[in-house]
Amino acid sequence: MPNTSATAAPIVRLQQVTKSYRLGTVDVPALRGIDLTIQPGEFTVIAGPSGSGKTTLLNLVGCVDIASAGVVEIAGEDTAKLSERELTQLRLRALGFIFQSFNLVSVLDAFQNIEFPLLLQGKSTRAERAQRVNALLERVGLARFAHHRPNELSGGQRQRVAIARALVTQPRIVLADEPTANLDSATGGAIIDLMKELNTQQGTTFIFSTHDPKVMSHAGRLVELVDGKIAGIRVLHGDLPIDPGAHGDPSAHGAVAAQAV
Ligand code: ADP
Ligand code: MG
Repeated sequence: MPNTSATAAPIVRLQQVTKSYRLGTVDVPALRGIDLTIQPGEFTVIAGPSGSGKTTLLNLVGCVDIASAGVVEIAGEDTAKLSERELTQLRLRALGFIFQSFNLVSVLDAFQNIEFPLLLQGKSTRAERAQRVNALLERVGLARFAHHRPNELSGGQRQRVAIARALVTQPRIVLADEPTANLDSATGGAIIDLMKELNTQQGTTFIFSTHDPKVMSHAGRLVELVDGKIAGIRVLHGDLPIDPGAHGDPSAHGAVAAQAV
């Protein structure tokens, strides 16, 4: 693996990012000054209690929501400078998003759900799409379920469809919001193993949120959120924390994390 030194261009850069939601006449702060740099190929877990800002953070990185202040740079693009149309293009080109509630289209079967982002991109032939979708169905162990609709699949199977859909465009960044929260521990473990494998084999950058300690132990880097702030960043080596409680420049640990996974 190439040495991702301090000179490597980060794939995600957040600088002094804040986000507030307006509730009636009050502003609810969800993120309060986030500085975070993620290098390509890192496996980062965002951990924190419910309400700490995990979903908000992922939504900003995923370009499905806009920061109130600060800089959000994704794959070298300053998202504040992009039009709605350019943001959509960036999402389609660089990002795969696995939502907590899966967000599958109920009238489409597993194959069609996975194919959908490729249709939106509009760059592939039908044969190319079939080849890619079938390979992914195989990869997530759902080859036999290609023509089942979401309501004919278990929670774990739906989650696998959502993962395959997020991966089908071969995005550089995959975001997952509590991907194992609705799964039993064996299924959750298998899902994390699958992500880890893709991370190692293809160098895909994974960022996901969880409050499950078992999931956290698989992280290359663990970012702890409390009340909309980063309370600590830990670099893990396999399952062993090697730098517990590190608060320093997070980008300095990128190389370690990228090599650890
Ligand atoms: P987490 O995913 O860690 O549970 P969230 O990012 O969902 O945290 O929420 C962070 C804070 O922002 C919470 O206080 C939550 O109530 C608030 N919040 C999130 N989404 C909205 C929204 N759409 N409108 C108002 N407040 C929100
Ligand atoms: Mg959440």
